[in-house]
Amino acid sequence: MLENQGWTLARRPMGEPSVEDFSLQSVPLKSRVVEGEVLVRNLLLSLDPYMRWRMNDAKSYARPVEIGQVMVGATVSEVLVSEHPGFKPGDTVLGGGGWQEYSILKGETLQKLTGNVPPSTALGVLGSPGFTAYAGLMKIGMPKPGETVVVGAATGPVGSMVGQLAKLAGCRTVAIAGGPEKCALAKEMFGFDAAIDHRASHLGERLAEACPRGIDVYFENIGGRTLDAVLPLLNDFARVPVCGLVSQYNDDGPYEGETRLASLMRDVLIKRLTMRGFIVTDFAEYRDEFLEMAMPLVASGKITHLEDIVDGLDAAPDAFIGLLQGKNKGKLIVRIA
Ligand code: NDP
Repeated sequence: MLENQGWTLARRPMGEPSVEDFSLQSVPLKSRVVEGEVLVRNLLLSLDPYMRWRMNDAKSYARPVEIGQVMVGATVSEVLVSEHPGFKPGDTVLGGGGWQEYSILKGETLQKLTGNVPPSTALGVLGSPGFTAYAGLMKIGMPKPGETVVVGAATGPVGSMVGQLAKLAGCRTVAIAGGPEKCALAKEMFGFDAAIDHRASHLGERLAEACPRGIDVYFENIGGRTLDAVLPLLNDFARVPVCGLVSQYNDDGPYEGETRLASLMRDVLIKRLTMRGFIVTDFAEYRDEFLEMAMPLVASGKITHLEDIVDGLDAAPDAFIGLLQGKNKGKLIVRIA
């Protein structure tokens, strides 16, 4: 029997999560790996903003994590024991191992990782975040050469990919990011034409200066105040893929000047805006198309990416709390083993 440490949900957070909302436990594994299953050692754990919503007991597109349950999460893992014909010990796989050292997973949910790119890319630029950027931008945003594309959380794995794909599509790209350091990173590393610090004052005016021909595609990652600044700049027939609302995940209640649904809907009508919420799995049929396009560009360095790797499972809660405060620089990953 393996000693298996894992972080469980201790209680549901009110507002911003704290370390006390998690509990490091010795979590039992089933005693036997049965047909179709695979025992894995989790090597890398992806930390993602959606996990905050899963800590709430609210109806959503996915079930909440229960109190006492191991926190969910995508992992890159090494196969130790396999009772599935598709995998053998030593294989490196992508799966949903969660915030723990070992997991027993159904073989059908795993994906073997091969190719000439580091396995960590399967959690970021070539994984769910990269594909989210591709699906939202290309299938909903539909950028055309010469158009202006704006994206928030622009140095993260989704935003940085949106920026680079929009640039490849011939667009003017404008980043919204937290702080001067991230704004510099957005321009220097990810090639954005302009970068706006959402923490500085007069966001609306500065965004207007950066978008002299208005905004044709706003890839929504943030919500709240940023959306307020973007709305007046949207052009006729602008497209808004609604991917995430990270500024609202901690549910801190309304802020001064909160977006009013009525004026939002007025813009939707008058400007014939397309606003479409999406979950990346809606576009599963395009995953191979995405990998075919992105894999060579990542391998050759034409698409660049940034990873923020923290060491040890112990560090997971703090790192996750920091993600919701913008402390991460690039795709946040915990190196478990
Ligand atoms: P990131 O790694 O970019 O991390 C989140 C970032 O959000 C932070 O670094 C910070 O960047 C920004 N942020 C945090 N709090 C605030 C705030 N209060 N106001 C403004 N910005 C804030 O995340 P991802 O790239 O993984 O995800 C980006 C978005 O995409 C999220 O909203 C996420 O939920 C969504 N998503 C949606 C999917 C879908 O299927 N619809 C799938 C995957 C992701 P900064 O410091 O620059 O502000």
